[in-house]
Amino acid sequence: MTRLRVPSTSDVVIVGGGPAGAAAANVLSAWGHAVLLLTKSEDTAPTLAESLPPSCRKLFRAIGVLEAIDKAKFLRSTGNTFWWGSDELRSERFTDGELGYQVIRREFDRVLRTQAENKNVTVVQGTVKRVEFDTGEMSLGGGTVHVMAGGEHANPVVVSARAVLDCSGRAGVIARQGFRRYGSAPATLAIAGVWERPDGWSLAEPTHTLVEAYRDGWAWSVPVSAMRRYLTVMVDPRETDLDRGGQLAVTYRRELAKTRQISRLTDHARLTTEPWACDASVYSADRYAGPAFLLVGDAASFIDPLSSFGVKKAIASAWMAAIVTNTCLVKPEMAEAACEFYTARESEVFSSYAVQAAEYFRDVAAKHDHPFWTGRSDLEDDLGFGSPAAIDLDALRLDPAMQAAFADLKVWPEITLAPGDRLQVERWPGIAGREVVLEERLGLEMSTVGRVALRFVRGVDLPALVRMAGDHRQVPDLFEAYNQRYSEVNLPDFLGALSLLLASGALRNT
Ligand SMILES: Cc1cc2nc3c(=O)[nH]c(=O)nc-3n(C[C@H](O)[C@H](O)[C@H](O)COP(=O)(O)OP(=O)(O)OC[C@H]3O[C@@H](n4cnc5c(N)ncnc54)[C@H](O)[C@@H]3O)c2cc1C
Repeated sequence: MTRLRVPSTSDVVIVGGGPAGAAAANVLSAWGHAVLLLTKSEDTAPTLAESLPPSCRKLFRAIGVLEAIDKAKFLRSTGNTFWWGSDELRSERFTDGELGYQVIRREFDRVLRTQAENKNVTVVQGTVKRVEFDTGEMSLGGGTVHVMAGGEHANPVVVSARAVLDCSGRAGVIARQGFRRYGSAPATLAIAGVWERPDGWSLAEPTHTLVEAYRDGWAWSVPVSAMRRYLTVMVDPRETDLDRGGQLAVTYRRELAKTRQISRLTDHARLTTEPWACDASVYSADRYAGPAFLLVGDAASFIDPLSSFGVKKAIASAWMAAIVTNTCLVKPEMAEAACEFYTARESEVFSSYAVQAAEYFRDVAAKHDHPFWTGRSDLEDDLGFGSPAAIDLDALRLDPAMQAAFADLKVWPEITLAPGDRLQVERWPGIAGREVVLEERLGLEMSTVGRVALRFVRGVDLPALVRMAGDHRQVPDLFEAYNQRYSEVNLPDFLGALSLLLASGALRNT
């Protein structure tokens, strides 16, 4: 890690060198911006082992770290094993033989930061105490930001930047300046320990993450080698005696003993460290972008660790934050639209994970009627859920107008398509390469899904299809011409998109 003097100015200051901060730094620096990454020293703090799904590879490639991650030789996993809502074992392999990663987070984060340094990011160890903004504008690109770093620097320093990304995780250096939203969902405390067994464990799937629900909590085991596993329990802190002087180690062992399967891993195994605890409660934010800042990764929102998608979400959030920041720096006139786009997307992402987690909790609540499960089964409105990112295509397929249009398409001997009375072309923010741009979408109204503004349906570019629909008299000719000009789609998806345009009145057959 560089122990340079902190520069007094930078295009972008990133607070926090976890997955979100390191990923954003990698991308923004590769795109030519001066980036200063300030991160706390965590060399002595305990670190978790975490499971990353195979789909993370695509993100690693996108941020330019895939080769380095592969070189680091983290244990690769073939899937997950659950005892969830029943005593029956469910073992799931990742599709197509793909492999996930079991990473020790301190090592994983270091790989990402080293890659950032290799791309000319200035990485400085220090604790950011405060971030102040000297602009009241609701957009990036127009202000100067002052950052006071402490840590090994005896005197606080001030850095001016055009944008600050809060990637400080739960600490939320900027997020806690009035943006974080905790809601009334029950709190979760994670208690972790590292176990070793010299002969290893004779498990059917030794690389799998193991997850087990019990009456009032759940346990989770991540292997990092043949002989070493992390065992963590997730509990409601109110159900423990920790705030009344209870011992963490005692609570940890008591909770592990409630499991039938995961507790067996402790037989003939040695707990190598004192157990430690961390807060794992969910939260979101009122908004995710503001005057010269973005909240990124866990600083923006925290999803239930059950999903094993926290790191993936953090890196995806960083990728989007890099696009928004780049847009604000190179096209300040787009800053406001880009920040709104970012807030909408972060809110949708948080919502979709929250909906999924609530479903998993409901599965267990059906077996264990305990507040730990019932309290997490409902979505609390006070966390602010965004509207879903995509329309419900299943509902759309059953729409009577869609079905009628599809039937017409099959029997019409010839088509003469023209813009319909209800064609509405709108301008919405979308992504083109490294920038947020205003792109065309069609405003459509259907009884089953209500009003939506769409650019693509099943990969079919709706405004493009409207533009060329009148050029052909046969549907197969239109299909072929579309596929020659735009990204290829299959016939059922093409017919579905065409039916939607007819059913909604965006196109008519004259
Ligand atoms: C118990 C538990 C289990 C989990 N299991 C998984 C899993 O299996 N798979 C998965 O994908 N995700 C898992 N997660 C979620 C995952 O840990 C987070 O989503 C992920 O770490 C988010 O990355 P981040 O970069 O946004 O934040 P963080 O990883 O929290 O990084 C924040 C960084 O900011 C630094 N920082 C904080 N304050 C300051 C400051 N004032 N100044 C400078 N630097 C600062 C910190 O030192 C840290 O480096 C789990 C989380 C918990 C709590």
